[in-house]
Amino acid sequence: MYRREFLSSIAGIGAIGTLSSFKNITDDLSNSDKMPVLFIGHGSPMNGIENNEFSNQWKKLGQSLPIPKAIVIVSAHWLTKGTWITAMKSPKTIHDFGGFPKELYDVQYNAPGSPELAQETKNMIKSVNAELDHDWGLDHGAWTVTRRMYPDANIPVLQISIDINRPASFHYQLGKELASLRTKGVLIIGSGNMVHNLGKIAWDKIDEVGFGYDWALEMHQLFKSKIKDNNHQALINYTSLSKSALLAVPTPDHYFPLMYILGLQQKNENAEFFNDKLVAGSINMTSVKFG
Ligand code: ZN
Repeated sequence: MYRREFLSSIAGIGAIGTLSSFKNITDDLSNSDKMPVLFIGHGSPMNGIENNEFSNQWKKLGQSLPIPKAIVIVSAHWLTKGTWITAMKSPKTIHDFGGFPKELYDVQYNAPGSPELAQETKNMIKSVNAELDHDWGLDHGAWTVTRRMYPDANIPVLQISIDINRPASFHYQLGKELASLRTKGVLIIGSGNMVHNLGKIAWDKIDEVGFGYDWALEMHQLFKSKIKDNNHQALINYTSLSKSALLAVPTPDHYFPLMYILGLQQKNENAEFFNDKLVAGSINMTSVKFG
């Protein structure tokens, strides 16, 4: 999967527009209201079509938050070399999973993109040269959540890729660089899972909400307590928290989206948790809102 995603990312190189041709999409947006930021535990792709306690909460969120001008998502399912931003006008719906019912593959989430906001976002990232992508689209880390939050698909959605060879501190810093989007009506979402070990899933309890192995429960509690304490450094150095960290985060793809959201947390903002439950033994759906 990594190779495919990498190749599809570099395929976008040829289509980058000139800087001067873009108007800043956020120029006419109010600076008064700061949008919240969200880390969402997305869990199974089935949450994109099933009505359950998790997806119902996403729906409620969409109804209760200020309506965003655009949405920028860092999804666990777009891993690349380098940092990429989707910049197409009409991102396609990507069904990047296997073995699910046809109904899930039939889903099309036709939210527009925004080449202008992609360019603007690229410009605000100073630590690396982020590139504009014209090939990706919306993977299931993005659309399963947004189609519940915003079923009318009338709000532009962009994705930012995860440069998977970079450490947690890099992603945390990159999150900070996106801060001005919040004052321009843009909702930033990190979509992953803090505890996520597919190799250890309890298949006999796959539908059981609330069951977690001891190590999953331990890390679930540890992550939450460090978030509550605003101890970002401990969360960046998560492998030092406990031996269980490597079981909870065997690969960092689903954890790194949290780094962006922590980077965006302001000093006066406290964590509000939701969907705070373990599922199938080795995953937690715990999600957090700041602001
Ligand atoms: Zn996932």
